[in-house]
Amino acid sequence: AVSEEYPLVVENLRKSFGGITAVDDASFRVERGSLTGLIGPNGAGKSTTFNLITGMLEPDAGSVTFDGEEITGQKPHTIANKGLVRTFQIARELQEMTVLENMMLAPKHQRGEALWRSVTPGFRGDVIEQESALLERVWEVLEFFEIDHIAEEYAGNLSGGQRKLLELARALLTDPDILLLDEPFAGVNPSLERRLLDHIHELREQGYTFLLVEHDMDLIMENCERVIVLHQGRVLTEGTPAEIQANEEVIEAYLGG
Ligand code: ADP
Ligand code: MG
Repeated sequence: AVSEEYPLVVENLRKSFGGITAVDDASFRVERGSLTGLIGPNGAGKSTTFNLITGMLEPDAGSVTFDGEEITGQKPHTIANKGLVRTFQIARELQEMTVLENMMLAPKHQRGEALWRSVTPGFRGDVIEQESALLERVWEVLEFFEIDHIAEEYAGNLSGGQRKLLELARALLTDPDILLLDEPFAGVNPSLERRLLDHIHELREQGYTFLLVEHDMDLIMENCERVIVLHQGRVLTEGTPAEIQANEEVIEAYLGG
């Protein structure tokens, strides 16, 4: 079935803000287990597309299908609960909490029930036992991202890069199938960017699917196996990095603005 190969299918998606059509009849699909790049010039509609997919915005038209089920217009937490998860910047209130506390809150905010089931299969009772299972998973994820040594640090004191790692760690904790990342490398130095990318590749090898918005063309071309190009809210083309790089229309869209 199509839904097995392509867990995320976007069809004829449209969203206007007043006179501006931010997303204009966009259709694309994301292959399971892929790291797919979503690129396009500034204002192309990338973030709006993410907001439509994750239920932060309701589309004027079109549909979003996840794992064969139409999820168009569902609430963000309902969509996250199904395993379609995006990263979030750490809110002001959470900056006054430690990394560990942020992690303990993450699944409750995003994907509570599913996580409880996944850490304690068949388990239905004791809150303390559930908390300790969660804590174990939290440490596992912190170690994976190599931020376990700053577990007691206040989130507000982290460097830009450490904050990006925490954002990714919190998203991963919700046990997603697909992770949507909107410019996860913004403000991150090159060595940390490499580290983040290594983590993403490792997770992809474990079977996670990624849809990545990023403006750095070289980064996309070197790291993604599929690339979707948005331009003025429309899908200009999609293909392998080699196909995209050879596409005259893409070159023109970027140079012409
Ligand atoms: P990108 O992420 O590719 O840079 P966006 O999706 O943020 O692009 O924006 C696409 C277009 O929609 C832009 O012209 C932007 O100004 C407009 N836009 C996005 N969000 C809103 C909003 N909430 N209200 C009005 N216009 C918006
Ligand atoms: Mg954007």
